[in-house]
Amino acid sequence: MHDDLKGKTALVTGAGKKSGIGYAIAERLAACGCNIVIADLGRPPETASPVRTGTREEMETIASELGERYTVKASAVEVDVTDTASVQQMQGIVRGRCGHIHILVNNAGASFGVPADILTYDEAAWIRTVDVNLFSVFRVSRAVLPLMLGEPGVIINTASRAGKVPPLFNSAYAAAKAGVIMLTKTMAKELASRGIRVNAICPGQIRTDLEQWRFGLEASFFGGTVEEREQEMCKTIPQGRIGLPEDAAMLVAFLASEEARYITGQAINVDGGQCMEL
Ligand code: NAD
Repeated sequence: MHDDLKGKTALVTGAGKKSGIGYAIAERLAACGCNIVIADLGRPPETASPVRTGTREEMETIASELGERYTVKASAVEVDVTDTASVQQMQGIVRGRCGHIHILVNNAGASFGVPADILTYDEAAWIRTVDVNLFSVFRVSRAVLPLMLGEPGVIINTASRAGKVPPLFNSAYAAAKAGVIMLTKTMAKELASRGIRVNAICPGQIRTDLEQWRFGLEASFFGGTVEEREQEMCKTIPQGRIGLPEDAAMLVAFLASEEARYITGQAINVDGGQCMEL
């Protein structure tokens, strides 16, 4: 555990669902003694999505359980990261409740309109996908940064292996995640002199609703069962297994801590060795 995180306040977007990476991140940070703000949609998205989103009830349950289990302050706030007014409203609520934010984790994400190649991809779904994965990082960071300045701080963005290695029939998500990696680097340069470190994590295959849905899609597209698609995938992972949300969460806690004090502008893979670039 990272003792220096004790008493810090962290806001994690897309943390309102117990099966997701965001929840694992919030739990890990709470276990390190951080006060936590769980930010999530709290309702289904306007554009139909096959992957369910965090509900208001689940967000409240998560906040009260984390607060009790780790004796930290934990609360939930509804936000649509694709809506500037909603993000501003969240910022106001968080300012009132917490004052200062030390750690911002931009983790919310989704994919719409897939699988589709570039000729058939619905334009609105393409734009919506870029909005929820990339523009959201700009939008939320810009709104929350005023609550971070004046003390050392950390921003961690959840990018993806898909931002480095092109997936098939998922171009908007891949382009958005590549954008998240570059936005991470530009923000790291701009904010270093203000004491804010900015890094991205690039998960490979992590067992969540999003991942299970993707394996289901692949199975219906390429044939076989979800289990067979998973087994095929595991053959491409040197460590031979699908990752767990906690695997990504441990990296986030490290990056948030003083142990990573000389690390900024990086996009770090957490993927069992699936992507090994120079
Ligand atoms: P998930 O679907 O379980 O979690 C996504 C969360 O984002 C949900 O809680 C959802 O409610 C929230 N969300 C969606 N739209 C939102 C909006 N408009 N406003 C606010 N919140 C919104 O998926 P996950 O696998 O836990 O994904 C978390 C992050 O990790 C995403 O950015 C995803 O792209 C990324 N990622 C996941 C994997 C994987 O293998 N699971 C791999 C690489 C990257």
